Amino acid sequence: MEASTFDTMAADTADGQPTFTLELNQDQKDIRDWVHGFAEGVVRPAAAEWDEREETPWPIIQEAAKIGLYGFEGLAQFFADPTGLTLPVVNEELFWGDAGIGMAIMGTGLAVAAIFGQGTPEQMGEWIPRCFGSVEEPKVAAFCSSEPDAGSDVSAMRTGAKYDATTDEWVLNGQKAWATNGGIADVHVIIASVDRELGARGHAAFLVPIEAAGIEQGAKVKKHGLRASHTSDVHLDDCRIPAADVLGGKEKLDERLARVREGKKSSGQAAMQTFEASRPTVGAQAVGIARAAYEYSLAYAKERKQFGRPIIDNQSIAFTLADMKMEIDAARLLVWRAAWMGRSGHRFENAEGSMSKLKAGEVAVMCGERAIQILGGNGYTREFPVERWARDAKIYTIFEGTSEIQRLVIARAISGLRIR
Ligand SMILES: Cc1cc2nc3c(=O)[nH]c(=O)nc-3n(C[C@H](O)[C@H](O)[C@H](O)COP(=O)(O)OP(=O)(O)OC[C@H]3O[C@@H](n4cnc5c(N)ncnc54)[C@H](O)[C@@H]3O)c2cc1C
Repeated sequence: MEASTFDTMAADTADGQPTFTLELNQDQKDIRDWVHGFAEGVVRPAAAEWDEREETPWPIIQEAAKIGLYGFEGLAQFFADPTGLTLPVVNEELFWGDAGIGMAIMGTGLAVAAIFGQGTPEQMGEWIPRCFGSVEEPKVAAFCSSEPDAGSDVSAMRTGAKYDATTDEWVLNGQKAWATNGGIADVHVIIASVDRELGARGHAAFLVPIEAAGIEQGAKVKKHGLRASHTSDVHLDDCRIPAADVLGGKEKLDERLARVREGKKSSGQAAMQTFEASRPTVGAQAVGIARAAYEYSLAYAKERKQFGRPIIDNQSIAFTLADMKMEIDAARLLVWRAAWMGRSGHRFENAEGSMSKLKAGEVAVMCGERAIQILGGNGYTREFPVERWARDAKIYTIFEGTSEIQRLVIARAISGLRIR
């Protein structure tokens, strides 16, 4: 399989122990093959249908739950890998199967990452299982940061959370846009401003269950790609939740806000913390789409004959495939580096998380477009999957920070300047 084609690159020390390797260990290979089997046998055959239906593929989410791929235990097992590689490996395989269904399965992960990263142990214990539901009745979760006027510019967020001391509750008002699983999720993690004057540093993340009064799904978005994944606006109209349901707890939030008001450093912004941690995983999803497009067009180019010989016999086609393969491997290496850095506590000094997502997203778009070209007329039809992969790939240069914003983050990190 493609992901295993890395040769071992080991530098032996005096005691014969390798200090560096890019070879997956047996556990990682087993998980990769297991997810690949699901992607090949269950996800890919269903991909065209759910893309056309533009609906959440609940039966497939349930199949994933049955085998332990969808659920807290599965995610915890992937995350527990100290090398950090299991999570991107799983995502690459699943999204190789199909990105729309992949996102329907993995979209919950962003909300879970927020709860895991910023929640108290009690909040994790209570809310993370709720995000997934059960095998009999799977649920999904949503992470809602973007708003109609606050996409790249998170600091422009207008959704507010006011503390009501008389009832010891938070009252949320505002509108969220483009939320994956918005309105159909059992748990919504809502980013809202508690102090507008502090900009993004006045934001906090709130746990809003679907049964809370005042939360409602807005318009469902009709999309170019990723159509098996539900995307919607979410309206919050005097939505009340208990004071304890701010991620990290109210006491910690009050302390953080006090530090910021005194001009001291705080531990960061609510939405940005989640995005930074999830970027390599998102990059791995894009690598999966790119690989699907590459493998399909490579096989096609060997089969398809024009002028009496396979089209791969032409350098222009073969070189295109060579570039696709090289770029995919380069993107994967950046993803693995960032995943390893994130898991092993290395700081992203040069925005390595952003680099991985930026490169992988652009490679996926390039591979999708070139795959269509290699398939010619067939590539442009819905009878062949490459047009879907090209449509799906495009979102990877837009969500979780556009390519321009990733370049901005990298430029600021390497220069130390507030580049605009
Ligand atoms: C399918 C889908 C799923 C999504 N899921 C979620 C979700 O689950 N949760 C969530 O919170 N959001 C989600 N989003 C929203 C997504 O994160 C935003 O669309 C994205 O952040 C870009 O914001 P925007 O659309 O407002 O674009 P804008 O910010 O308006 O950007 C428009 C263009 O201007 C460029 N630009 C903006 N500012 C600068 C700058 N300073 N320098 C250079 N260029 C700049 C951008 O790069 C882009 O090319 C989703 C979106 C989609 C389409």
